[in-house]
Amino acid sequence: MPDRELHCDTCAGVQLFEAPPCVDDHGADCPELICTRCGSAVLIATFAFRAARLADRHRPRPLHRRAA
Ligand SMILES: [Zn+2]
Ligand SMILES: [Zn+2]
Repeated sequence: MPDRELHCDTCAGVQLFEAPPCVDDHGADCPELICTRCGSAVLIATFAFRAARLADRHRPRPLHRRAA
């Protein structure tokens, strides 16, 4: 997972965050990031949940039959 810049409350500014080694079996979807400066952990769960919900709605719909 690529590093990303987020606002860190502890550092009171934007810092570079990186994904820690995941111990909860999240894999590539692990919502945890750790500030590379102070070590504070943050969750990007809102983003992850929103993505999951969108994926759920992405069901194939029959397009050849339109109710008119
Ligand atoms: Zn995880
Ligand atoms: Zn920090």
